[in-house]
Amino acid sequence: MAVVKAFAYGHGAVAVSKELAVLGADYLAVAFIDEGVEIRKSGNSLPILIFNPNPEEFDAIVKYNLEPTIYNIDFLTHFTAYLTKNGLKNYPIHIKLDTGMHRSGFMKNDIEKLKKTLINTDTVLVKSIFSHLAASEDLSEKQFTLAQLKQFKQQAKSINNVLVNKPLLHVLNSAGIINYPEAQFDMVRLGISLYGSSSLEIVQKELHAVGTLKAIITQIRTIKKGETVSYNRKFKAQKKTIIATIPIGYADGINRHLGNSNGLVLINGSLASIIGTVCMDSLMIDVTEIQAAIGDEVVFFGKNHTAQEVAKSIGTITYEILANVSKRVKRIYIK
Ligand SMILES: *Cc1c(COP(=O)(O)O)cnc(C)c1O
Repeated sequence: MAVVKAFAYGHGAVAVSKELAVLGADYLAVAFIDEGVEIRKSGNSLPILIFNPNPEEFDAIVKYNLEPTIYNIDFLTHFTAYLTKNGLKNYPIHIKLDTGMHRSGFMKNDIEKLKKTLINTDTVLVKSIFSHLAASEDLSEKQFTLAQLKQFKQQAKSINNVLVNKPLLHVLNSAGIINYPEAQFDMVRLGISLYGSSSLEIVQKELHAVGTLKAIITQIRTIKKGETVSYNRKFKAQKKTIIATIPIGYADGINRHLGNSNGLVLINGSLASIIGTVCMDSLMIDVTEIQAAIGDEVVFFGKNHTAQEVAKSIGTITYEILANVSKRVKRIYIK
């Protein structure tokens, strides 16, 4: 299962999903119904699992043949009632079990009720039973994770007993696939590593970033010692300084914390500092020591200046750096 939520981690869900279909992915997964609708409307015919469907949107689920995660009894009861009203049978659903993440899914005490509801309806077909690990990347939490897996196996088996078909079982995300290979069951849910990133260093070495975020220099100027750059004059030149302006800002997903010399960009093979406050549509970098000209390419993250490094410089995770690149940024796909 290829996870393409959040605009395919910023890379563009429609284009990425189209390529994934060509590459042989069995399933797509997104967080919200709207995300699934967009992919379906593009003509993609892969099954699409919705992690967090909103119970107000049953019409869209059915119209676009999306497969909802059922995460509590309420949702299930309302959905089966909706299906009955519309004369639908065997609608594909996925049962989410909360084995310790405590974000969503059936808790231990709900399982009997879930089974009873499932026995008494032919409106739904349980395509899969799944859970999510709270700490798949953190081996110091191995005991907790193993307990999650054990609980998952028991509960899945007990639900299985009341079903006519045999659903797929799945629990692992990117880090889990590496750290708990024995728990791959019938499917795994590959997200961040699909885009070339891993929180595990040994794995990171084997992966290539599939996306590069870049812009070009539009202006270059020299300022004197004591002059300042950008809003509220946060950067004060200690000496004669050459600065370049790049037309990309926080509205494009450049985190404002990268400003004031916290973040770096790659230009002509050298790293340059982002100076002063990041503006909505532009930012300035210090190119005093760097060969730079108008039109030169500036890389915010990519192959030789990774999103992991950017994330680290401002104390966040690669997921956030990738997912925050806004829709205003043009995506260009190169095969
Ligand atoms: C986002 C998500 C994934 C993918 O996680 P990665 O760490 O990006 O591989 C898998 N399962 C669920 C339920 C998710 O929400």
